[in-house]
Order: sequence, then C-alpha cells, then structure tokens
Amino acid sequence: MAAIATPPGVGAIGIVRLSGAKSWEIAQLCVQRAIKEERKMFYGNFYDSDGNVIDEVIFAGFKAPRSYTGEDMVEVYCHGGVLITQKILEEFLRKGARLAKNGEFTRRAFLNGKIDLIKAESVLQIIEAKSEESLKLAIDNLKGKLSGEITGVRKALIDVLSKIEVSIDYGDDIDVPREEIFNDISNVEKFLSEKLSHANRGIHVSTGVTLAIVGKPNVGKSTLLNRLLVEDRAIVTDIPGTTRDVIKGEIKIKGIHFVISDTAGIRHTDDIVEKIGIEKAIREASQADVLIFLLDSTTGFTQEDEYILQIIKESNFIPVWNKIDKIENVDSISKISQTDNDVFVSAASGYGLRDLEDKLIEKVKPLITDGHLSHITSKRQLEHLHLVNESVKRALKSLNENYPLDIVSIDIRNALSELDKLLGRNFTEDLLDNIFANFCVGK
Ligand code: GDP
Repeated sequence: MAAIATPPGVGAIGIVRLSGAKSWEIAQLCVQRAIKEERKMFYGNFYDSDGNVIDEVIFAGFKAPRSYTGEDMVEVYCHGGVLITQKILEEFLRKGARLAKNGEFTRRAFLNGKIDLIKAESVLQIIEAKSEESLKLAIDNLKGKLSGEITGVRKALIDVLSKIEVSIDYGDDIDVPREEIFNDISNVEKFLSEKLSHANRGIHVSTGVTLAIVGKPNVGKSTLLNRLLVEDRAIVTDIPGTTRDVIKGEIKIKGIHFVISDTAGIRHTDDIVEKIGIEKAIREASQADVLIFLLDSTTGFTQEDEYILQIIKESNFIPVWNKIDKIENVDSISKISQTDNDVFVSAASGYGLRDLEDKLIEKVKPLITDGHLSHITSKRQLEHLHLVNESVKRALKSLNENYPLDIVSIDIRNALSELDKLLGRNFTEDLLDNIFANFCVGK
C-alpha cells in the first residue's frame, strides 16, 4: 500500500510511503537502482514508466520488523509540491501498490504487534494535540505509560486467577487462603478506582470540553456559534428550525479547548425531519460537559423555554439572554437563575461575549484543574476500565459473601477479557475501523 504522508499543499519536502512485502521491489523499479542497505538514505532520480525523470529524490528502505508498520517499507522524500507527490504516488500504484486507507500504516503497526491499541490511539492524539498538556499525555502513552499500568493490572489478575484455579483443582493439597486472594484483588480494585476517579480530567485535557448551545428556534444559536468561532460555519437564517443537524466547531478560551455544537432549536413539532434534529439536540445536550441555554431577551421567558429547561435542568448550564441590543433596560428581564448566573449578550454585535467566556471558564475549570491528571485519554479507555473495575468489585463481593471460587473466577475472567479489549489483544474489525477512521491517509 502507498500514500502521501505529508499534508496536501506546497512545502519544502513531500513524503510518499510504501509498506508491504513488495515495497522495495516497486521502489527500486522507480529509482532504477538497488536499495543497498536498510535504514540509510540514498539520493537518486525517480522515473515514471516511460523513463522520464519525475523528480530528484532521497529515499530510504526499512526491513521488517524494524519499520513503523513492522513490514518492509520505503519512504521517498521529494520536493514538496502537490503534483510531484501525486505523480510519485501514481507511479507506485501503476507498479502494483494500492492506495492506503486512513490510518492504515498505524493499523498495520498494531496488527503486526508493534504497538497496542492504546499506543495507536496516542498517535492520533499526538497529531491532534492542541495544548502542551494534551501533547504530554499523548507522548507518555505512546511511550507506554497507560499500557504499562494496564499490563500490570492484567498480570496481577492472571496471578490471582492461577491461585484460584489451583485452589479449585488441587484444594486438598494446595489451598490458597481466601484472604490472600481477597487482598490481591482488593489491591487491583484500589488502583483502578484511584485511576478512574481522575479519568475525566485526562479526557477533557485530551479531547476538549464539550459545550452545546441549546434553545428554542430563532433565538440566535447559530449566530452565537459563529461569533464564538469567528468563522461562518453554521447556517444563519430568519426561518425557525433551519439548523436541523448538529454543527460543530472548536475554540480555545483562556487556554481551555472547547468543542462546541450548535443544535437544532428544541420545540414541539410534527415535522419528522425536524423531530430527528431535536432528538439529536437533546442527546447532544445530555452528553455535553456544559450547556449555553440561549434565551431571547425580546420575548422574555416563554413556555417553549420552560419545555427546554425541564429537559436540561439537571445539566451544567448557563442561562444566556441574547439580542440584548434590542432591549432598553436589562433590569426588565427576569433572570432565571437565583445565583446571578444569567449572562446578557448580543450575538449579533458581540456585546457580552467576554462575560460569557468568563462564565464558561468558571463552570468548566473544575473539570480541567481538579485532582491528578490520569493518563486515561479517551472515552473508549474509560468505558473498558469501568467494566474491568465492575467485574473486580463483583469478585470481591462474591468472596465476601462466601460464594464458591468458580464464581469469583468468572468475574476475574470477565475483567481480563475487558482488559484485552482495551489493549487490543481482543478486537473486532468494526472497532479498528472506528478508531482508525479518524486518522489521516499516510499515517
Ligand atoms: P437559531 O435558530 O437559534 O440558530 O437562530 P439564528 O442564529 O439563525 O438567528 C435567528 C435570527 O435572529 C437571525 O435573523 C439573526 O440575525 C437574529 N439574531 C441573532 N442574534 C441576534 C442578536 O444578538 N441581536 C439581534 N438583534 N438579532 C439577532
């Protein structure tokens, strides 16, 4: 397989990569000479099939398993032009390579046992890192921080399982005290609970804080999103119910990375398409870390707002009164929060935006700064670790209640199976598709 590894556009250097058993053969045909040594750079011409020189290049060959993918590989460093890199790629394809899919180089590294799934995820996190802190977490994980801890837990559970099995099979001769088994499992539980209690901070630092703007149709949600993004990505119109899907963007406020979504206006409706958008909006709102509940100063608090308030009342929300430019006296608006939380803005003019940003920071600061920073950096990792810990807790409960050791062993096996999914020792193609779909081609 082959792909251009550098971003599309003009630059000093472009890199085209080949990976697979035939990569040396294909590359040698293109440079019309033998690659004499692995992991060494050579200078030469790159020829097309008619013998014309496409570019002067540097190239390097790597032999399995000492390469990024764990397979034979060749990298060609050419002049960084859109056409040059494209022509080199086409030449590779003409000579029998096929185009790589998103993240396929890293996927092969995983499938060839070069990295586990946590490290594969960290490759993407390094590429996407938007703060020093998230970059550091990702690099630590690529170096094996979280994988090492998880492998330690796995080893401890395998040791416990063997003690249990020995007791079950040879109980008459070798009887491992239940107390010893309990203590071993209890140590794992303490470690996992501690990790999990700090997990959210790692995820927020790595993937950003999620913010959803909710409100009835026409209250100014898209206008506010555009204001916040300082770019026109959301559709702004006068017809209520236009934002039928969820529109997302990313911003940084005082160093905190937010992923913002503008959702469909929530209201009672019989329109089937609009209903789907509203359901998505409600789902988005329920999953967001913080909500902007947008209200219209010109109408005051209406029944439609009450309907939305009932849906979001348990969430972390800020009431924000928009279109304040049309109001003569702000005191005429009856605030909905008892705690002076209401913010007044004009999305159209930008008035009040600083107050809103200050309030947002105040609301999300605890998510980012409280407690230790754990190296759990994705929801996938968090979900598996939760399930591991549940099984471990069940095992402790079974021991406490004097259940037979067979029952305890089932819980430990379940925990191990979940750990294997986390590390990628146990995986489905769908899971890999899901993870690697977010990578760029050539990585
Ligand atoms: P959405 O349906 O909630 O996304 O609302 P839009 O962002 O599409 O805005 C609906 C209408 O309100 C548009 O005509 C906007 O120009 C107008 N609008 C939005 N914000 C303001 C504001 O702060 N002041 C005024 N006067 N009009 C606004």
